[in-house]
Amino acid sequence: MKLDTSHMRYLSKTDYRVLTAIETGSKNHLVVPTPMILTLSGLRNMALLQKSLSILAKINLINREKNAKYDGYKLTYHGYDYLALKAIVNRESILALGTQIGIGKESDIFTVADKDGNNMCLKVHRLGRTSFKAVKKQRDYLGKRQSATWTYFSRLSAQKEWAFMQALYDAGFSVPKPIDQSRHHVVMSLVPGTVLRKCAELDDASRVYALLMDFALELANNGLIHCDLNEFNIMICDYDPANPESEIVVIDFPQCVSIDHPNAQELFERDINSIRHYFKTKYGVVGDYPKWEQVERSGKLDMVADATGTNKKALKELEKYQREAELTKEGENFDEHEFEDEQEEDDYEDEEEEEEDEEESEKEEVKIFDVDAHMAKLSI
Ligand code: ADP
Ligand code: MG
Repeated sequence: MKLDTSHMRYLSKTDYRVLTAIETGSKNHLVVPTPMILTLSGLRNMALLQKSLSILAKINLINREKNAKYDGYKLTYHGYDYLALKAIVNRESILALGTQIGIGKESDIFTVADKDGNNMCLKVHRLGRTSFKAVKKQRDYLGKRQSATWTYFSRLSAQKEWAFMQALYDAGFSVPKPIDQSRHHVVMSLVPGTVLRKCAELDDASRVYALLMDFALELANNGLIHCDLNEFNIMICDYDPANPESEIVVIDFPQCVSIDHPNAQELFERDINSIRHYFKTKYGVVGDYPKWEQVERSGKLDMVADATGTNKKALKELEKYQREAELTKEGENFDEHEFEDEQEEDDYEDEEEEEEDEEESEKEEVKIFDVDAHMAKLSI
């Protein structure tokens, strides 16, 4: 899904107030009633509000919903993107948006730049895109909390990734440098490397294999299991004898769990085995690997991440969602067409964009847009 920022510079302070009011109202309303938006936005009169609402609806940041009980508005993915980007830009963490460099199953990855032209990476979490059924199921599970939809899970996923990335980075692990986070957006350093999956050859495959095994064991010793440690989430950089660990950079942390998790051993072994299998089949490398019994807790990174604001109950909900999503993807009854219908129902857009070939989009040259034209007017 594209991140279309072309309307950002035309929006007024009032428009952002209204958008924020709808976001606030969404916490306990699936459709936020118009009078409530007026109250939450603090605008003086309905005429001002209506003007803003029609601008926001026209550029698809919100959708008008009429039902039997009342009229109101829902935030769209684009609207949520605008709010997140706006917050990050206001903090001057980024100033310009570049090109899309990756489409994950549940994320979009872009290059971004700060005011000095330093390139960074923006990960936009979009849960509920490929596993929409799981969101629906989760919605049932959440019972009364009807508003717990894609915004809720996407934000939770980003918060969790942010918390873990910070903890890992501070502890010296080879992960991207966390830079900023708002809602479902995470800004991090751009890894100057290639995802392992695309590396036909490696300088020294045994060396990389050993680094990965050390990473997994060290991570577990510090209390964490990645849970998706595979060729898609490992980036390979140039070998630097002065800093040999930097040859690998591990990404993608929303599914990390503590070594105290009930299935910890299984999850740890799954990570290890997935690396072993990949290196054996692709590079013919067979080597030593850490066993669960070798894990000796020496750090509490799982606790650090817990303490950064992502509360336990929310993390449990996210984990349940992720498990459902995984099952739905693997399960026979995953029906993409049904998913498409549901997408429409729930304001998802740019279907064709989403089907864009990942390989193609990753080949695009990194180029940063003109800051002034796109985002300079974002600061209020
Ligand atoms: P997902 O959760 O959707 O799998 P990932 O975090 O794995 O998302 O990112 C998807 C792809 O985007 C990666 O395979 C990689 O090619 C690219 N990518 C992600 N983060 C970075 C980064 N910090 N620097 C460079 N490329 C990145
Ligand atoms: Mg990934």
